Amino acid sequence: MFSKVLIANRGEIALRVIRACRELGIQTVAVHSTADSDAMHVRMADESVCIGPPPGALSYLNVPNIMSACEITGAEAVHPGYGFLSENAQFVQVLEDHDIKFIGPTAEHIRIMGDKITAKETMKNLGVPCVPGSDGGVDTIEEAFEVSDDMGFPVIVKATAGGGGRGMKLAKTRDDLEEAFFSARSESKAAFGNDEVYIEKYLTLPRHIEIQVFGDGRGKAVHLGERDCSLQRRHQKVFEEAPGPVIDAKTRARIGKVCADAVADIGYAGAGTIEFLYEGGEFFFIEMNTRLQVEHPVTEAIFGVDLVKQQIRVAAGEEMWFKQENLSIKGHAIEVRINAEKLPNFTPCPGTISTFHAPGGLGVRMDSALYDGYSIPPYYDSLIAKLIVTGTDRTAALARLNRALGELIVDGVDTTIPLFYALLDEPDIQSGDYNIHWLENWLEAQAEG
Ligand code: ADP
Repeated sequence: MFSKVLIANRGEIALRVIRACRELGIQTVAVHSTADSDAMHVRMADESVCIGPPPGALSYLNVPNIMSACEITGAEAVHPGYGFLSENAQFVQVLEDHDIKFIGPTAEHIRIMGDKITAKETMKNLGVPCVPGSDGGVDTIEEAFEVSDDMGFPVIVKATAGGGGRGMKLAKTRDDLEEAFFSARSESKAAFGNDEVYIEKYLTLPRHIEIQVFGDGRGKAVHLGERDCSLQRRHQKVFEEAPGPVIDAKTRARIGKVCADAVADIGYAGAGTIEFLYEGGEFFFIEMNTRLQVEHPVTEAIFGVDLVKQQIRVAAGEEMWFKQENLSIKGHAIEVRINAEKLPNFTPCPGTISTFHAPGGLGVRMDSALYDGYSIPPYYDSLIAKLIVTGTDRTAALARLNRALGELIVDGVDTTIPLFYALLDEPDIQSGDYNIHWLENWLEAQAEG
């Protein structure tokens, strides 16, 4: 086992990893920007190293400085959390070249899955069902028309380098295609420095269902069921639950096996998520994330496992102790993402927390790096806390969410907490009857009063 791990991240996910390390008896190194000197992850780690000025590009994405931090502290492994360098194959390569272990899959697997066209081709060949669409990239508008006319509208133009909902444009009809094609390309060029796009059939009322997989890197892999992350705003998840309200045990076992077999086949190591759109009882692969997800706690809650500890163990060369036959679901879990944002427009709202009180009690987990007097810097993601509740069933979990929200105090900044109270009052949320467009439609209706 490693004796010292460096966490190349900040906020709640850095704390999450520090907690796992501590339980494994591993020393921790936090890295931070000058804006984060007083951050909780710096206070909680055994050691800390400043790696640059506030902007992420100069600190949390600064590979040479992170490598120096490893060298100074003697860290043997790096956990990347999510975001920042977590899916950066080049970073993984640099670590490998310096004999520092990356806690995650190989650079090659990250590269394959990071390019959505290659990812889709790979998954298709491994027997995973995919959204119908172009065979690879679409380079010209003529080709875009050809592919789309064959498939029928609506279609969605997507950046092969895309992520975070960027570089994705809908063409409802033939008239929209030219605009969608060129704007997806220019947005992708600006955001990712790559303007390659592909085209998919646009599914009109799907749910977003993702399968958690875990591999030992030596050809063994398991699945840990699904999460339903259909409640999204601008393609960003807001509320996630497991198990999915519309997935039964037979369906879970079937798609879970397809996913576990696929990652076993490529010798995938560690945690991964295979994302699908689910419509009309069918799954359609959209992408694979080769890292821990923000919403991993709902899976941990219902399976009673610690995914981060397993990531660390597998990276250290230990046997994966997950066995499919020992993995079973108990209860229902829901996560809500609390952002420092002002409703109704979700405007980022950094500032100083005057009072923070985390809810507690049975079945309540709060993953947050907030504390009284903490100043949320304006440079990073606005996620400030994840509230995760578990109940014996969905109804109990919803009641617990309502109760826990009532105990939670975050004063000093605007947050998205009122959104979750409002959602809990909605019959569709209570019954689990929603799809990927539900939240946007509901927000629009609220705005119109
Ligand atoms: P990103 O990597 O930017 O998150 P994804 O490919 O994972 O992009 O898609 C994000 C979201 O966009 C999905 O959860 C879904 O809401 C929507 N989406 C993507 N592809 C399609 C499609 N073919 N049809 C309908 N919606 C889609």
